[in-house]
Amino acid sequence: MHGDVTAVDERFLSSLGVHRIPVPVPFLEAGGPVNVYAILDEDGRWTLFDTGVGTSDGLAALRGGANEAGVDLRNLSRILVSHGHVDHYGNAQTLAEESGAKVHVHPADLSKVLGQERFAALLARHRGYFLTALGVPEPLVDEMTAVAGRSKPVSRAVERARVELLEPGTRLRFRHFDAVVQHYPGHTPGLVCLHAPAQRLFFADDHLLAKVSPNPLLDLSQGEGGTKFLALARYLESAKAVHALDLAAVLPGHGPSFHGHRALLDGLFGFYQGRQDKLLSRVQASPATVYELLAVLFPRRDVPRLVLMLSEVLGNLEVLEARGRLRREAVAGVVRYAAA
Ligand SMILES: [Zn+2]
Ligand SMILES: [Zn+2]
Repeated sequence: MHGDVTAVDERFLSSLGVHRIPVPVPFLEAGGPVNVYAILDEDGRWTLFDTGVGTSDGLAALRGGANEAGVDLRNLSRILVSHGHVDHYGNAQTLAEESGAKVHVHPADLSKVLGQERFAALLARHRGYFLTALGVPEPLVDEMTAVAGRSKPVSRAVERARVELLEPGTRLRFRHFDAVVQHYPGHTPGLVCLHAPAQRLFFADDHLLAKVSPNPLLDLSQGEGGTKFLALARYLESAKAVHALDLAAVLPGHGPSFHGHRALLDGLFGFYQGRQDKLLSRVQASPATVYELLAVLFPRRDVPRLVLMLSEVLGNLEVLEARGRLRREAVAGVVRYAAA
């Protein structure tokens, strides 16, 4: 479904002082081990782009991979966090303590990196949103809350004093190239990528993945109402901007580096279009809640993956609504979507 992509010879990347260190992730949805990139600075220190998941296995894999690549994790100039997901910032606090380097993150993902957006906390804070805006039955919200409460933390929260806010447009100098920090909201509100235009390199983290769609998740960190973050709608805008770039190598957050981002994105745009067509024809038959529409896209529903499924349905409905194809109506306090 994601078009034809070809692998990039990683020796090309090491000649630019870039080392990819895969770190295992203990959940399937991520799409395989997460990549930590170590990039050689002008002064011989290292910049890290992402940090891996903060389990003891994750930290051990990062240390082992760094050792093999000749990267000294005590000699870091800066720790860049691409976005506020645990598999990307999990070891940031530990690495900052050991190296003294600051953790750089976009302001819109700061609350996540500070550990304030864990799913259990989000469910507790926005319980009413799940019941009314998404139409999830109350016993199921209770079940989701219980499952979320049992999950073990896989990241350490970063102390605010160790954080420096990342300005989009900042030019970063490395020994072999320069890269610009680009803000591409979607997968999260504060996701950033690094673009090295002269070398046509793009550090994409989870904005562009070869094997899985980037799951723009339900995100209430910017509010529930008029300020709510429209994850998939923003993602598609950001993805169009990246489609226009001329790139020799995409260095993703999971999986090996690849070439062929336009074919990949064209496949993804078609995939979302297909999902929107299905949802639209279903609501044309009769208005339905987000929860009721899960069955249109997912034959089976399982509690641990429920938020991913709700996110997918809601995101596509928000895109259709923004295009004037749908409208929302509240019946007895519960939101239903109907054809416009
Ligand atoms: Zn992510
Ligand atoms: Zn990820």
